Amino acid sequence: MENSPKPENQRPTALFPAETDSPEATRALGRRFARQLAPGAVVALSGDLGAGKTQLAKGVAGELGVAERSVRSPTFVIAREYDGRWPAGHPAAGNAVPFVHLDAYRLSGGPEGLASVDYETYFFGEGVCLVEWPEHVEPVLPTDMLWLHLAHLSEKRRRVSVRVGAGERGREET
Ligand code: ADP
Ligand code: MG
Repeated sequence: MENSPKPENQRPTALFPAETDSPEATRALGRRFARQLAPGAVVALSGDLGAGKTQLAKGVAGELGVAERSVRSPTFVIAREYDGRWPAGHPAAGNAVPFVHLDAYRLSGGPEGLASVDYETYFFGEGVCLVEWPEHVEPVLPTDMLWLHLAHLSEKRRRVSVRVGAGERGREET
């Protein structure tokens, strides 16, 4: 399938860069971020193990009406899909939105491992898809996606920043 541009998803949000001092604060940041997402949003979450990617994902999930505790880094499954709903105040408030949490940690051999999941629907559908370890599946990611990077600053401190632009991932940081 074509990597069709969706310019609205490329706009960096005013929320980032942001620093947090606790997992709760990272989840709260995820909730605020969720309100800015549009149907079809695909968001990469890069960063080392323990950087807080899953905490941020929990916040996004919570704002979309998905129980935060059900979102965890999957051990065997690559992707989990949940029935979400756009929150009050969102332009699509009340409408259903599929929420997908994809963790490519085990796909260090490349995106071939994605063959077992419906990734084209996740990446080019109308849901919200968060991708942990995006660098493992980069060749098949949409070119227009928002890329967030989480950095581990100290035991409790994390920084979340935006990287944008196909071909510039990992280099252009705002
Ligand atoms: P990842 O998915 O990036 O591997 P997780 O979100 O699963 O990371 O785990 C982050 C870990 O760091 C959790 O144990 C969490 O309690 C801890 N932590 C400490 N401070 C923060 C913070 N500011 N933001 C997010 N997590 C934090
Ligand atoms: Mg994780």
